[in-house]
Order: sequence, then C-alpha cells, then structure tokens
Amino acid sequence: MALQLDVVLTKEKKEKPDFTQLGFGQHFTDHMFIMDYSAEKGWYDPRIVPYAPVTLDPAAMVFHYGQAVFEGLKAYRTKDNRILLFRPEKNMQRLNTSNERISIPPVDEAFLLDALQKLIEVDQEWVPSAPGTSLYIRPFVFSTEPYLGVRASHSYKLLIILSPVGAYYGDGMKPVKIHVENKYVRAVRGGTGNAKTAGNYAASLKAQNEAKDLGYEQVLWLDGVEGKYIEEVGAMNVFFKVNGEIWTPALNGSILDGVTRNSVLQLLRHWGLPVYEKRISMEELYEAYTRGELEEVFGTGTAAVISPVGELSWNGNQLRIHEQQVGELTMKLYETLTGIQYGEVEDPFGWTV
Ligand code: PMP
Repeated sequence: MALQLDVVLTKEKKEKPDFTQLGFGQHFTDHMFIMDYSAEKGWYDPRIVPYAPVTLDPAAMVFHYGQAVFEGLKAYRTKDNRILLFRPEKNMQRLNTSNERISIPPVDEAFLLDALQKLIEVDQEWVPSAPGTSLYIRPFVFSTEPYLGVRASHSYKLLIILSPVGAYYGDGMKPVKIHVENKYVRAVRGGTGNAKTAGNYAASLKAQNEAKDLGYEQVLWLDGVEGKYIEEVGAMNVFFKVNGEIWTPALNGSILDGVTRNSVLQLLRHWGLPVYEKRISMEELYEAYTRGELEEVFGTGTAAVISPVGELSWNGNQLRIHEQQVGELTMKLYETLTGIQYGEVEDPFGWTV
C-alpha cells in the first residue's frame, strides 16, 4: 500500500535564533518528520509533526546493541530565493546501504526524498540566507523494540530533523593540522566503515580527543589491518595532489563513499585532470613529500565541502603542505562546488534539486 504523508502543523512557532550566530547543529526547526516500522506493517504512519522529544522504553534495543544509522545533507538558499538540495538521492541511497549493513529494513528512497522536500517547504523560513549558511538535514533511523536478546530489532523509527547552520568558514578558509593516527583505527574491511552507523562515530572520539590534546584539529585514519594505508581524515574523505596528479584512497569497504568525494572526482575528470583512486600508503606519501611533490592535501565532506590540510604529523615527521596556505586546486574545487550548491555557477551535472 502506498504511504500517505500526514502533516500536523505546530500551533506555536518557536522564536528564531540569531541567524548571524548559528554555529553548527544547535538550533532545530518547528517541525520534524517521523515514521515507524513494525515487522507486521513495514514502514507506516509517515508524518510531519511539531518538533518534540521521542519517548522510548529503557529496554529499546538501540540503547543496548546500537542499531542506529544517520545521514547528513544540506539545503541552500539561492540569491533569487529558491531552496536547493545537492544530490539528495545519493544520501537516500547511502541511508539504505547503512541500513542494510546493520540489518535495518530498507526505506522507500523516493518517498523519503518527497517527505524531506515537504518538510523543508513547511519549515522554509528556517533556511538562512547569509553567505555560507545553510539548513543542515539529519535523517536517522534507530531500533525501538524493548528486548534484551541480541538480534536485529523488529521495530524502528526514522526521523528527519533540520538545523540552520552558520558558514563553516566564518573567518575564511584556514588549513588544518592533522595527526596521523597510529594507535586507534576507525574501521576495518568487513566492518561498518562504509556505513554511517552511530557506532563508527563513538569509536572515533577517543582518537579525536587525544589528537586535540596534542594540538591537532583532526586525525588521519590508517587502515585497520596493516596500519599503513590512508583511509579518511576525521569525518571526511581525503585527497592529495602529487606532482600534478590527484590521488584519493580507493573505496575498499572501510571507507565511507562520500557524496562530496564522488562530486570532486567527477569535477576533476570533467576538467581533464589525471585522477587516481588507489591504495596510498603513508610511506609513499612521505616519499613524495621529501621529493617536494606533495602539492596539496584536502578533506571533502558535506559540512566543510573542502577542508585544506596545512600539516600532517606522522611518526615524528612534520609534513608542511603548500607552506600552510590554501592551494589553487583546493580553492577552485571549493568555489565550484559551493557555487553549484548555491545556484551561482552552472551545474553541468544536474546535481541540484
Ligand atoms: N567520511 C565520514 C566518516 C563521514 O562521516 C563523512 C560525512 N558524511 C564523509 C566521509 C563525507 O561524506 P559526504 O561527502 O557525503 O558528507
């Protein structure tokens, strides 16, 4: 049976925050989307309702065995007052990839995207308009069955909440210092690294905290088997410009298939640049550095779009990149992608919706 979306509007709109001081993920809009799953009914009762807490049984399986996945994407307000989404179908697909990996039943991607668009329409006043600001969109799914046996839950909830967020680079783009992580690993092949499961982020926090204590902003994750090969940087994919070529780690099962990564690859190929998705060891990268060939390093992800890396610290070696200045390619990618997202430059791929 086709799902029917119900809409219940709030009687009392919230006071809007100061849109010039938004920060990230601190303010939430007037409404949310929610639907339920049971083994008997499948996904049912999809509805847009006033934003409110969710009540769960203390035995709800998510608290014990952690079946929880999420997505992250943004809506952008254009100068002529349209609201654009950037490749949202990729996030819906990835949500199902994540669901599949931890035995959560799949959702109807087209239905969910329609519901998301309707939710944004309802809360459209919350899409900020200052340069660089956006509406962050957080779909997530978790298990709700009250049961302590270890198996997949028989019931779930899926929600979408919305949060107006400030410009990531309020004070301009600044290259970050990265600690190459030798002790902890984020993911292993066969594990959940290519899914957006909550547990992956729980597992990353300790390394992140220790790197912060050492004066670094993020960690560079190496593979979980040999500890040699580069995987990701923080919660971003990573790219290197080496002697005119652009390298990024090939998707191998433990790396998240980022929407920004995929878009950067398409843009670079569109521009005719030599791009390689391959296994990259830290040693190989260090050798390129000592030859003076490591020209630019940047992370890619929805939050920052492109994040330049100015320094990598690896086994006591400090690799200083591009004199800790933002590289030309890094800047060109940032300007092109954000230009497409805000409808200011031509979108040759039809990415915006
Ligand atoms: N890797 C990880 C671990 C992430 O959490 C994210 C953010 N979703 C990314 C990479 C970048 O993915 P995207 O470009 O789709 O935001």
